Amino acid sequence: MISYQGSCHCGAVRFRFQSEPITDALQCNCSICIRKNAIMSSAYYPPQDFELLAGQDAMAVYHFGDHDVNHHFCKTCGIYPFHDSIYEPGKYRVNLGCVEGIEPRELNIRQYDGRTLL
Ligand SMILES: [Zn+2]
Repeated sequence: MISYQGSCHCGAVRFRFQSEPITDALQCNCSICIRKNAIMSSAYYPPQDFELLAGQDAMAVYHFGDHDVNHHFCKTCGIYPFHDSIYEPGKYRVNLGCVEGIEPRELNIRQYDGRTLL
């Protein structure tokens, strides 16, 4: 397992998580993901592998549709570092563009058809 560190753009939100070496990723074409254009972790990281180091109060949450996904974002810089669902709070899928030591566009990126499925 590797300890990865990440942050939003302004640095108010900082986090770290334990993961197998990250070699693949996910992009989704649903109405919000296509706008963010984020490259996200394939895995959801459970609370025991994820630690928010700073920024709980710096974030806001955006909901839409069925309101079942918590789209966390930094109130200062607007960057989305991760999301979780209301069914498994604290289990995060991470925006790999926020993570140090990763070149997201060089990963094996799987296209997820959220537009059709969601
Ligand atoms: Zn920020």
